[in-house]
Amino acid sequence: MVELNHQVIKEALASLEFHTKAIINGKAVDALSGKTFPAENPATGQVFTHIALCGEEDVELAVQNAREVFERGDWSRLAPADRRRIMVKFADLIDEHALELALLEVVEAGKPVSETLYTDIHETAECIRWHAEATDKIYDQVCPTSRDNLGMIIREPIGVVAAVLPWNFPAQMAAWKLGPALSMGNSIIIKPAEITTLSTIRLAELALEAGIPAGVFNVIPGEGSVVGQALGLHMEVDCCAFTGSTSVGRKFLEYAAKSNLKRIILELGGKSPQIVMPDVVDLKTTAQHVAAAAFWNMGENCSSGSRLIVHESLKEPLLKALLTEMEGWQLGDPLDPEVKLGSMIGQKHMNNVLSYIEKGLEEGAELRLGGKQVLKETGGYFVEPTIFDNVTNDMTIAQEEIFGPVLSVITFKTEEEAIQIANDTNYGLASSLHTENIHVANRMARLIKAGTVSINCFSEGDSTAPFGGFKQSGFGGRDKSLAAHDQYAELKTVWYENR
Ligand code: NAD
Repeated sequence: MVELNHQVIKEALASLEFHTKAIINGKAVDALSGKTFPAENPATGQVFTHIALCGEEDVELAVQNAREVFERGDWSRLAPADRRRIMVKFADLIDEHALELALLEVVEAGKPVSETLYTDIHETAECIRWHAEATDKIYDQVCPTSRDNLGMIIREPIGVVAAVLPWNFPAQMAAWKLGPALSMGNSIIIKPAEITTLSTIRLAELALEAGIPAGVFNVIPGEGSVVGQALGLHMEVDCCAFTGSTSVGRKFLEYAAKSNLKRIILELGGKSPQIVMPDVVDLKTTAQHVAAAAFWNMGENCSSGSRLIVHESLKEPLLKALLTEMEGWQLGDPLDPEVKLGSMIGQKHMNNVLSYIEKGLEEGAELRLGGKQVLKETGGYFVEPTIFDNVTNDMTIAQEEIFGPVLSVITFKTEEEAIQIANDTNYGLASSLHTENIHVANRMARLIKAGTVSINCFSEGDSTAPFGGFKQSGFGGRDKSLAAHDQYAELKTVWYENR
């Protein structure tokens, strides 16, 4: 993997090109209307290119082509081993173009380059590779029926899959859908978040270069209320896989009900708890995990551990360790390889985060770190990592997803109270639990209502682990692991009677 330094980044930036057209039926095309929209670098506030602004007519074209190629079988009927070979090549090409893809995500999203290169793009390639490798290792089933019958349960690709995606991990969220959907033989149309389109367009170009047939992987940039809605309502789209906010996720259930009852899979928001039990000894390591859970990706993370639920006896020593840990979290130019915290995604979102900080102060929480916009001279949208003490779980900052670098500290006295506070939320995506006692860990892990419980760490697991939410954090399925393959397949029964 590339070793990052200022010179390497400077050279790569000098040759960075922006591919700004939609990818439909294997070709880079302008929107049929000819319209474009500006792409702004949120770390500088500067517009650096314009991207095709697609509309319903482009969706129509993409769906028609995706359907045609699916029915023709160019990809859907290819032998699984052939799909595997081509997808592995796709993953290899992502690795070869890792720095280019990483830089696209830096300039579009203000994410730190060391994160986009070593985490986001690396894991994008790994995710595609993992699902690719599974392609010819998944067996179908035979029913345990009498000797007079033979019943086969066969998985078939579902057809045309639309993926409508968020801006916080653009390539990685695309890979979570692409990996299993392509592996199963589907055609896919991705609508990236309008503010983070460029790396997804490049992924589609690399997929074509790897040999994924034209029309199998399409990208339609544009607005959610136009392109996203048109995909959601389309009669020829068989499945919509959505990752984003709970409020928009709900609309997809309505779209399905109003159209063809397409399958809907929703990966939504969170307000994840991090519980620290009184027996924890290594506060330095715990503080590192707490900081990562709360502030990684500037807190613009669905599984962000935005509520620290700590035993009252450990609050002060843990806060001390956390404040020391945060001294090492450099905020600044996301193109600097030493920087750990970049900008917020945009001005509107930054203002929203700042208004939650105001609300926290109004409702009586006590600021222990940060709380302000900084680096205004850059023209970018930077917010300090912010820690609120003396939060109660009914406060707005403890209930609503802020999607920014804001951690609420809440104390508890008993194990039961810790569980009660952790579960007192509409969400249930992720959680962390810190304890030295395996029995406590096991007992509490069963009681926390969340799709992931990470013990003594902050982690979403790797490609082998399903990821998704309980309650209003998700619906209809899971990303990653073999569970994700099934959701892009229909089950068919083939039944024989012996003569
Ligand atoms: P968002 O819901 O605003 O947008 C997500 C996507 O939906 C975008 O592509 C957007 O253009 C599209 N969209 C918007 N309005 C639409 C409409 N009316 N019809 C159809 N599509 C529409 O979310 P966001 O701000 O991009 O991302 C942040 C959210 O994503 C947070 O809530 C976060 O928790 C969630 N998220 C969840 C996961 C997960 O795996 N659970 C992962 C990442 C992000």
